[in-house]
Amino acid sequence: MEQQPHILLLPFPALGHIKPLLSLAELLCQAGLHVTFLNTDHMHRSLTRLPQPSSHFPTLHFDSISDGLPTDHPRNMKLIGELMISLKSVTKPRFRDLLAELSTKSERPVTCVIADGIMSFAVDIAKELGVRVITFWAFSPCCLWPFLCLPKLIEEGQLPVGDDDMDRMIKGVPGIEGLLRRRDLPSICRRQLDSPIFQFYVEQIKAMTQTSALILNTFDHLEDPTLSYIAPLFSKIYTIGPLTALLTSRIKHDILQSLSSFNNLCEADRSCITWLDSQSLRSVVYVSFGTTGLMKRSQLLEFWHGLVNSGKPFLWVVRRDDIEGAEAEHPIPEELQEGTKERGFLVDWAPQEEVLAHQAVGGFLTHNGWNSTLEGIVAGVPMVCWPTLADQQINSRWVSEVWRIGLDMKDTCDRSTIERMIRAVMEARREEMMRSMDPIVKLAHDCVNHGGSSYHNLDKLIEDIKEI
Ligand code: UDP
Repeated sequence: MEQQPHILLLPFPALGHIKPLLSLAELLCQAGLHVTFLNTDHMHRSLTRLPQPSSHFPTLHFDSISDGLPTDHPRNMKLIGELMISLKSVTKPRFRDLLAELSTKSERPVTCVIADGIMSFAVDIAKELGVRVITFWAFSPCCLWPFLCLPKLIEEGQLPVGDDDMDRMIKGVPGIEGLLRRRDLPSICRRQLDSPIFQFYVEQIKAMTQTSALILNTFDHLEDPTLSYIAPLFSKIYTIGPLTALLTSRIKHDILQSLSSFNNLCEADRSCITWLDSQSLRSVVYVSFGTTGLMKRSQLLEFWHGLVNSGKPFLWVVRRDDIEGAEAEHPIPEELQEGTKERGFLVDWAPQEEVLAHQAVGGFLTHNGWNSTLEGIVAGVPMVCWPTLADQQINSRWVSEVWRIGLDMKDTCDRSTIERMIRAVMEARREEMMRSMDPIVKLAHDCVNHGGSSYHNLDKLIEDIKEI
């Protein structure tokens, strides 16, 4: 009997990276492949709803590795530099030992590593050990292209971005020229060129271009011009997104229902669904700023005033660790808890995809993490964008200026802008945005169904892995 390949999947330790890669793991297992999904110990402990080995995915196996930081050390975006250093100094040598073991001594040797685009140490190790490596890029492709152009942008003196030239247009880069202002570039472009985080990304991108194949969580036609610039740099590109929609399409409905973890790696507060059931059609604004961003208490209050003044009901995910610094000791200000009763509903974790698909939801106030942006598109919900870091600045520009399915409040946070934009998305400009949204939603759904591009590209990826 044919021996099925064994693949090791390595995400960056953040939920927004783990979730799409886990969907891919489940899809590969469904095709009979063996998968070892390698989390860091810390992430493995904090994701309370990872799928248990079950009869549905008997070939999916979880393993974990140290991220090098002490167990009680905080891990948030402010301290990301420390995590990056320890991944390189501690996790990398441990990963070498683990992969050496799994690719030689194991009964079913690992023949392929699928590594997150910002876990480049895995590329070095896999190459050293002669194991094929494919990159999985968890951010948006529209952000990958400027990353690939960093050397050119530096050479031409367009980086770093200073406070006084934020609105100047980027020049000389196809696909970006005439569209991106400096403020729309990925957030690291605001850092000094010799800062550790900027250097980290330069290093990651360089390593990534040394892998032959690239997997992207996007779908054909959404970002075609960008893909045409990226494609010549890799011998193979597999566009297989939106991954959670592909998972929904390819896995039998009854299995999906029984997967307690499906698309939800943390315990969600389902009371918000009951609350949504009592609201009228397309009346509610869903508010979530993802899992990594931090905001000041003053910004939280501006959002609250803007939402209340808009007159719309709102469902708001306020994470305990949303608020920056010492202010975080009282994470949810009194007025939010008291004053919200009339029209708002607060939760600390929502079943986001289910919420966005709910008929009561009419708008999405989002930070534009790539997963959230794709989830907003799949559900056809227009967005008000408040990006803070990573690829979010560029995703929000695409939402507002390329796809025209939302409004971008980048670098502002005042109650009147929030109120105005919410009203526009929910009422005044809703029809116009839905006219742009509808064809994109159709593309997103068609591509994950039988005969669609993402469906086909996943089959191609599986075939290619089997040939290694
Ligand atoms: N999410 C969720 N419930 C919440 C908040 C977020 O399920 O209450 C999920 C959301 O559906 C998305 C992910 O968390 O898939 C966040 O990923 P994204 O790329 O949008 O942002 P990040 O957290 O990486 O900044």
